Amino acid sequence: MILYTVTGKAGQAGYLNLADSGDLTGKSVYVNMTNRCPCSCIFCLRQTKKMTEGNSLWLKGGEPSLETVMEEFAPFDLSVIKELTFCGFGEPLERLEDVCKVIDLLKAKYPNLKVRVNTNGLANLIHNRDITPELKGRFDTVSISLNAPDAEEFLALTRSKFGIQSYEALKEFAVKAKRFVPSVVLTVVEKVMSEEKIEICRKTCQELGVTLRVRPFED
Ligand code: SF4
Repeated sequence: MILYTVTGKAGQAGYLNLADSGDLTGKSVYVNMTNRCPCSCIFCLRQTKKMTEGNSLWLKGGEPSLETVMEEFAPFDLSVIKELTFCGFGEPLERLEDVCKVIDLLKAKYPNLKVRVNTNGLANLIHNRDITPELKGRFDTVSISLNAPDAEEFLALTRSKFGIQSYEALKEFAVKAKRFVPSVVLTVVEKVMSEEKIEICRKTCQELGVTLRVRPFED
């Protein structure tokens, strides 16, 4: 499933193909373009074979081409939606170039389209360069999963292939992205993390000058 909406309460959320989502007015629409990710988070649904095979967000046929993604959008009027979010069962910025092309094509038709990416914040390591200037004019919000109060815990949770440098790289990515994106948000999940650790994350975000969002456990 490439384009979808999320339905139901947090925790019991289901994914609905965009074609089955009815009136899109005021809704968030999600784009799922890759299964690739440099991490192997212990909590990620991708780690469960059953989930990957059975989940509708696993792109069984591989990554859709740019043309296929644009064809998927064609029947829908995006002028009425609340926000378009690049998300899904992999790290969206693995396909940075294609994601940028999709946004450029859509913004040519819908100049006021609000665009977000939910990311692991490791795009500069993935591409081995600072990609944040490419976010300018394309993304309104960059939401980064912080997950942990320090580098060691981050690595233990995410098992990032880039190793211990990943946490610092994520923070640097957030600061650099701020120059080009109106809203940069770091997220942690309540209950999964102790209050003390959330407080450390809050201080980190203050130092970085970005917003911390504490997501509900079931989110
Ligand atoms: S960064 Fe996201 S997609 Fe990648 S393994 Fe972790 S939770 Fe899964």
